[in-house]
Amino acid sequence: MTAIKVTDGQVVSMQYTLRVDGKVVDSSEGGDPLEYLHGAANIIPGLEREMDGMAVGESKTVIVSAADGYGEVNEEAFIEAPVSEFPKDMPLKPGVEMELTGPDGEPMYARIESVEGETVTLNMNHPLAGAELHFDVKVVGMRNATDEEMDHGHAHGAHHH
Ligand code: ZN
Repeated sequence: MTAIKVTDGQVVSMQYTLRVDGKVVDSSEGGDPLEYLHGAANIIPGLEREMDGMAVGESKTVIVSAADGYGEVNEEAFIEAPVSEFPKDMPLKPGVEMELTGPDGEPMYARIESVEGETVTLNMNHPLAGAELHFDVKVVGMRNATDEEMDHGHAHGAHHH
């Protein structure tokens, strides 16, 4: 039997809008609802905690501190690199985002923080690090997770690969 309230082991469908400083940075509006497996850390901890116990059809505004969201800004995550290390055709100015390759070949997000002379400072923090997150959420559906979803620790929606 499907639970009435959001609880661990439920695949929850939700509509959401995320605002930071009053600006919309992400939203499911106009698209499919987000499906996630509750209790499996598929979504940020501060939001998952507030989703617990919600009913289908219920809406809520959830404010998540940076620490419970994408983390505080880590000062260690700023690195400096000489201009000569960047591709010639890359515009070197603050805000430009790029993907770097980490020590184990993994993709790493970075954006240019500043350019001074021949030195580029890169910020490797998550773009939303340090931000207080304002979510408007609505639970639009709920079902029991399948055994396979429980095994994998995530929901298998229509777009799952
Ligand atoms: Zn899977």
